[in-house]
Amino acid sequence: MKYSALKVIKEALTGHKGWRPAWRSPQPKAHYDFVIIGGGGHGLATAYYLAKEFGQANIAVLEKGWIGGGNVGRNTTIVRSNYMLDGNEPFYEFSMKLWENLEQDLNYNAMVSQRGVLNLYHSDAQRDAFRRRGNAMRLHGVDAELLGREQVEAMAPFLNFDNSRFPIKGGLLQPRGGTVRHDAVAWGYARAADQRGVDIIQNCEVTGFRIEQDRVVGVETSRGFIGAGKVGCAVAGNSSRVMQKAGIRLPIESHVLQAFVSEGLKPTIPGVITFGAGHFYVSQSDKGGLVFGGDIDGYNSYAQRGNLPVVEDVCEGGMALMPMIGRARLLRMWGGVMDMSMDGSPFIDRTSLNGLYFNGGWCYGGFKATPASGWCFAHLLATDTPHPTATAYRLDRFQRGAMIDEKGQGAQPNLH
Ligand SMILES: Cc1cc2nc3c(=O)[nH]c(=O)nc-3n(C[C@H](O)[C@H](O)[C@H](O)COP(=O)(O)OP(=O)(O)OC[C@H]3O[C@@H](n4cnc5c(N)ncnc54)[C@H](O)[C@@H]3O)c2cc1C
Repeated sequence: MKYSALKVIKEALTGHKGWRPAWRSPQPKAHYDFVIIGGGGHGLATAYYLAKEFGQANIAVLEKGWIGGGNVGRNTTIVRSNYMLDGNEPFYEFSMKLWENLEQDLNYNAMVSQRGVLNLYHSDAQRDAFRRRGNAMRLHGVDAELLGREQVEAMAPFLNFDNSRFPIKGGLLQPRGGTVRHDAVAWGYARAADQRGVDIIQNCEVTGFRIEQDRVVGVETSRGFIGAGKVGCAVAGNSSRVMQKAGIRLPIESHVLQAFVSEGLKPTIPGVITFGAGHFYVSQSDKGGLVFGGDIDGYNSYAQRGNLPVVEDVCEGGMALMPMIGRARLLRMWGGVMDMSMDGSPFIDRTSLNGLYFNGGWCYGGFKATPASGWCFAHLLATDTPHPTATAYRLDRFQRGAMIDEKGQGAQPNLH
């Protein structure tokens, strides 16, 4: 079924009886050419591009819960490609270009909204660092504008410009950055993959791997054994737990990240704004809620909920940046489990076992990567070679001293 304005009008006039489920609920087959573990954004996008771009037909996505129950449905929806390092920037810009055509490609309204991402700076040194980042972006052909205080004031007059500790001196703007409705991304990829014959199997937890002579030949699941030619693991915050079942230890720690949404307000915030003197970022959803977040909770956990000290910390950041937020009522808050890598950058790589491939280490920036991650993982699975934009995302990069440390924090996962 193709979605269109005409279809919406027809259904409205005929009692909405013609809508069909967006994807099937098939029984698992005994064997697939490709089994993708994890029905988050990355797993679903991988399956979709395997079918669409690489002509594969016998694919399953195994999801232990339901589609969209993980981080893909829990994030603050920010997409951007304002990276500096060579290993990252082409990949995230590839993702941005895929976002720009995603709704047409999937025939699904994912509410891609390129309202701009503005990173504020509060000192001369920070301005220089942002100028460097902006120049690196422009050298890669990516849009970036360094704004002075007056330009930021014109965009967002409600900010606390004269805060005595953190005066706002300007910002680095990526006009093509913005937000995308997160759960619609999961549903859009699921529907489009299903239409190309991918079996999406929910309530199917992978509990182990069957390994014969250094080759993975399938997965043990809560619904029985499923054979596979190749297995791709894309389980985000559960990466260490799942890969441990194959005897593989990863350079990843799992931490909780929380997000918050206020009651609906009239349009206030033009795009995404990030505080440069603390960890706080905010945008406004199409329903009017202020969507905001800050730092990870800072200790290892697999719980999809956070703790109160970080709530206080995030609210302090918000109050320092835009005191008016203190008058908005908080509607909801939630947590997701982040796969924090040692250098803050991800992995899309083969593993030491034949037939087993890994995608993870997305930290709290993996939503924006969803389309490119899926495409590049599909490329690796189908051709056994890395996609040109993802050649740096190797599991052995720490042994080789080839870290991709965008923030310059060192091997400290909770600081990236
Ligand atoms: C609060 C919060 C805010 C964030 N904000 C942003 C943001 O603004 N911008 C941005 O770019 N990124 C953001 N992120 C990060 C981003 O959401 C993640 O990096 C990204 O969604 C991870 O990839 P995924 O969608 O595939 O993960 P998930 O949706 O978590 O998918 C993994 C799936 O694997 C399944 N799974 C786990 N174990 C098994 C198993 N044994 N068998 C079968 N299935 C299994 C899980 O149930 C889950 O559905 C944020 C994350 C959080 C939590």
